[in-house]
Amino acid sequence: MRLSRYFLPVLKENPAEAQIVSHRLMLRAGMIKQAQAGIYSWLPLGFKVLKNIENIVHEEQVKAGHIPMLMPTLQSADLWRESGRYDDYGEEMLRITDRHGRDMLYGPTNEELITDIFRSHVSSYRDLPLTLYHIQWKFRDEIRPRFGVMRGREFLMKDGYNFDVDKPSALHAYNRHMVSYLRTYERMGLQAIPMRADSGPIGGDDTHEFLVLADTGESEVFYDSDILNLKFGDRVVDYDDWEECAGIVKEWTTPYARTDETHDPALFDAIPEARRRTSRGIEVGQIFYFGTKYSEPLGATVQNADGKAVPVHMGSHGIGVSRLLGAIIEASHDDKGIIWPEGVTPFHCGIVNLKQGDAEADAACETLYASLVAMGLEPLYDDTNERAGAKFATMDLIGLPWRITVGPRGLKNGVVELTSRRSGESEELPPELALAKVA
Ligand code: ATP
Ligand code: MG
Ligand code: MG
Ligand code: MG
Repeated sequence: MRLSRYFLPVLKENPAEAQIVSHRLMLRAGMIKQAQAGIYSWLPLGFKVLKNIENIVHEEQVKAGHIPMLMPTLQSADLWRESGRYDDYGEEMLRITDRHGRDMLYGPTNEELITDIFRSHVSSYRDLPLTLYHIQWKFRDEIRPRFGVMRGREFLMKDGYNFDVDKPSALHAYNRHMVSYLRTYERMGLQAIPMRADSGPIGGDDTHEFLVLADTGESEVFYDSDILNLKFGDRVVDYDDWEECAGIVKEWTTPYARTDETHDPALFDAIPEARRRTSRGIEVGQIFYFGTKYSEPLGATVQNADGKAVPVHMGSHGIGVSRLLGAIIEASHDDKGIIWPEGVTPFHCGIVNLKQGDAEADAACETLYASLVAMGLEPLYDDTNERAGAKFATMDLIGLPWRITVGPRGLKNGVVELTSRRSGESEELPPELALAKVA
């Protein structure tokens, strides 16, 4: 992409409405624009990162054997009356009436709708286990939408639902989700700690939230610092192996890690003092096992091996896709701007031409641009007539992992400058070597 042809409306000034760094940087980097309180337009740069995050979520879900689909945003109130949640859900639910006077709602979550699909089409235990998921916009009429995409009213969520014949099989689905979530967050350059949590309006007994540690997080969390040493890395997982998944879950759930809702001071105090940590965290996902809470009222049953109709055991599993942009920026930025992890960056490498219009500099930039594209990478070439300082400031603000700076003086010596956004270190290299490092 050439900056002269892109739409990147960066702001020079700090927007007054932004209270936290991720919100400020997303506005300044031209990633989002507020349409109404808690409702955002995703401008091209923000949209690109959102899609990258979505792709990682999809890839890891599919690897875990979960099946993508898409349900609508608008749902019928009648289904929610069947589960008893239409009245329970309260003011966070946006209720709408159509021209025929039918009650509808903008889905805050999808347990009812997916259970309705399930009961219409599945009747035998032989069709289980089954996990379906989608990535779709949700609406929750949050009393205080704030912090940009972090607590929106309209937000993008991945939500998945498992259907199993009995509890052990459903607990394997729970474990599979935990493993796939650990991999998902790690690919985004995030450390998200699974913490024992409270189930809230979804209901159920077994639940973990995934929290990214950040001072601006809304949850208070308590944990054993040992958990920070756990890395998923590039291990290969057989998602059909119950013991292997359970082993990984055990590894991550053995060190103490809880949110304030489930915090147990006696257990916490048993940890050696040097390892006891209290901090703030951002909830980027949550998994639940809730047994037959929805399948019973909604009549989602299957014939088991003995020919008896039994309600299916279910769980639901969510990732805050749009909230993740904020969480990643909270965890990865400096005073100049965002520092994107390689896994989610909107462009891989920026090219800054110090002297636009200089025949040699222009030609060198074009060659670099074409080479990066040929390598399968996406460069962002600043081919505008801005002065160098402004070009650098924009590149630092939008946080691409690498910047190649090209100017007539360097070219005389056969070199360009390669700068790492994360370390801030620069080196002068022949263009081919700079490209090799970016690859
Ligand atoms: P919170 O405690 O932050 O209100 P929640 O527990 O109500 O979140 P869940 O029902 O567990 O949310 O939804 C799954 C995920 O969706 C959450 O872990 C979070 O990452 C994301 N999420 C929930 N509410 C919002 C929101 N208002 N804006 C953006 N993301 C959200
Ligand atoms: Mg909530
Ligand atoms: Mg919560
Ligand atoms: Mg939650």
